[in-house]
Amino acid sequence: MKRYIIYLFLFFTTFAYAGNKPYVILISFDGFRWDYLERGLTPNLNELADKGVKALSLRPAFPSKTFPNHISIITGMYPDNHGIIGNYFKDTIKNREYSLSDTAAIRESFWYLGEAFWETAERNGIITASYFWPGSEISLDYRHPTYFEKYDHNRSYQEKIKGIVNWLKLPASKRPHFITLYFHDTDTYGHDFGPDSPEINRAISRLDSVTAYLLNEIYKTELKDSINLIFVSDHGMTAIDSQKTINIEEIIEKFKCSFQYDGPIMFVNPPADKIEEVYKTLKKSENHFTVYKKEEMPGYFHFNTHPFIYQIVVIADLGWSLRTNKEPKWLSKSKGNHGYDNNLLDMHGIFFAYGPAFKTNYQTGTLWNIDIYPLLCKIFGISPRSNIDGKLERIEFILKEK
Ligand code: AMP
Ligand code: ZN
Ligand code: ZN
Repeated sequence: MKRYIIYLFLFFTTFAYAGNKPYVILISFDGFRWDYLERGLTPNLNELADKGVKALSLRPAFPSKTFPNHISIITGMYPDNHGIIGNYFKDTIKNREYSLSDTAAIRESFWYLGEAFWETAERNGIITASYFWPGSEISLDYRHPTYFEKYDHNRSYQEKIKGIVNWLKLPASKRPHFITLYFHDTDTYGHDFGPDSPEINRAISRLDSVTAYLLNEIYKTELKDSINLIFVSDHGMTAIDSQKTINIEEIIEKFKCSFQYDGPIMFVNPPADKIEEVYKTLKKSENHFTVYKKEEMPGYFHFNTHPFIYQIVVIADLGWSLRTNKEPKWLSKSKGNHGYDNNLLDMHGIFFAYGPAFKTNYQTGTLWNIDIYPLLCKIFGISPRSNIDGKLERIEFILKEK
């Protein structure tokens, strides 16, 4: 009889476990540099990080900009492969443009060459939701989460958290198991006041309080013990100085090149027969910047094949800004920026995670953001796309062994 009860117990726990899909909330604090957690301003974030898994930093993909990296996190691919090579870029062949500020453009499915985790999840019967994430508003039905919000820069913290909690309170058959949440604050204040300002410090502590409020609201729901929280940022931030500026156009004035971007990186397209000459001229003048021919970009950038990358790519040294003859409006007003070489620690973001899927009191070194997609697939027990750049073996050890 006793034995029978044990079998019955095992049967039900196994059965319950099999039907027990995990919950994951992926939270992004835009531009939250890896070391902002060390400023003594974030008791709530630090408590979670200390109790769960904490990485030294999260390495972004190149260029260390917002859209390329949120898409890398959610697809497990480098920008060269997922197609969102910048916050802004041009398809010169079809004469169309992608820009983060163009709602119609960011909803066009054809720009996005990777499969977002919400798409993989939904194909596997997992309901997903997004309270903001680049790429979450794609107009094709099967490419966006079941529930998503149209991006609104000024949406209040309370409203966002209310939205998340309302999703978690839906009946089980309608409830999302994967949810994204995004806050722009640390990026905005980092640009406007710099990464060492009192203003950024206030933004950091505000996000800490917002997290405490979010936890409090989640913990009121019946799901409190099943939820995994993953905190990430897309990149870091470094101080810039309007005196540290290089006019690239001036150096190659006579060649009639076209330019794209200013700041940490610049694309240059010389006339077809002048690529070598322009490259050599820039190379000779290299001072606080490095110039590459597209196809000779070092492999670690993974940024040398996409057709919308120009023939020459110039990358500024940390803290320096590139410009053309036209002075960019933002330059005199900005105190911080990102977009530089993704291997520089100032460009690194945060990664910490807490919940039943993760080890406890566990610290590790730098993780790569392209590995988060296969990690999510592992947590949900589903197969990742085979064409991703991310590697489960570089991150899997942070999960609790079953
Ligand atoms: P960056 O120029 O790389 O600093 O981009 C940061 C900006 O991206 C934020 O200040 C937001 O205005 C914008 N942004 C972030 N997420 C979205 C989104 N889902 N849709 C539109 N814009 C966004
Ligand atoms: Zn960003
Ligand atoms: Zn930014």
